[in-house]
Amino acid sequence: MCEALPLRTTCDYLGARMNDRLLKFERDAGTLEERLVAGLAKIALASRQELFRAGVESGVSAAQAQVLVHLARDGPATVGELAANLAVTAPTVSDSLAALERRKLVAKERDRADARRVLVRATAQGMKLGESLTLWPEFLVDGVSQLSDEEKSALLRAVLILIGSLVDRGVVQRARMCVTCSYFRPWHSPGAARPHYCTLADLPLAADALRVDCPEHVVAEPDRGRTARAAFSHRSATS
Ligand code: SF4
Repeated sequence: MCEALPLRTTCDYLGARMNDRLLKFERDAGTLEERLVAGLAKIALASRQELFRAGVESGVSAAQAQVLVHLARDGPATVGELAANLAVTAPTVSDSLAALERRKLVAKERDRADARRVLVRATAQGMKLGESLTLWPEFLVDGVSQLSDEEKSALLRAVLILIGSLVDRGVVQRARMCVTCSYFRPWHSPGAARPHYCTLADLPLAADALRVDCPEHVVAEPDRGRTARAAFSHRSATS
């Protein structure tokens, strides 16, 4: 078709049409941000479905399963602590606890160190179930293990920065990440293979070793979600 005259006009016309189609095709796909969020939503949905499936098999709801997993993994906690750590409201936690208590999977007790605090703990039966439910993210571990080391490092970096920004905006109440911890000293030794430092462990930390869910975490005041970006950008700035 491009051989007929006016050749240039015809080719320009076809090129412009192709360009229009391409632009529309790319527009229809959504912005990069929209596609990333859609992908994250798919992973979140798959995780929730998997937890729901594991919970149904054990006779508990997904919300109850989350509470049990938390208690089995991190030990007794108050309702407020559970709500903050699971990023849900206290009434939601209370509903789950009432159902779990009826099934004798959790029990309440006074904190021996502070009698004003009421702690919830998993019973022996609840502990067993909670430990079995902690296996649910295996399908994600399998997926992540397919990534290259470089991709895993980049993903950890992106996840920490993203959660850090959610902490800053109050969407995530307690992230339990190194970058929001009062023991964290970013860039304690710039240029070293392990440039950061945990003053609790008294040990240096490599960027790839930063924790996402540390039981020893003590929230920095004010919470330092934005340190997540700083923990990585300093390296870029100095390298
Ligand atoms: S206590 Fe845990 S979260 Fe805090 S800096 Fe040390 S390893 Fe990181």
